[in-house]
Amino acid sequence: MEVEIPETVQCPFCGKSCEVMFDTTATSDSFTVDCELCCRPFEVLVKCRPGKVLKIDVDPG
Ligand SMILES: [Zn+2]
Repeated sequence: MEVEIPETVQCPFCGKSCEVMFDTTATSDSFTVDCELCCRPFEVLVKCRPGKVLKIDVDPG
């Protein structure tokens, strides 16, 4: 089973979509992503079950 899954998240500042790899073995996780376009950091909160991303929330902080 593939547990690392790519999903698209959207920068809350400039709207740029970028692909992030999620490790779905963690059922609930949050981490900071630096936007590749405007370089501003934002928080990504994710809920998973192994092999599937259930929900992604983006928080500009
Ligand atoms: Zn951005």
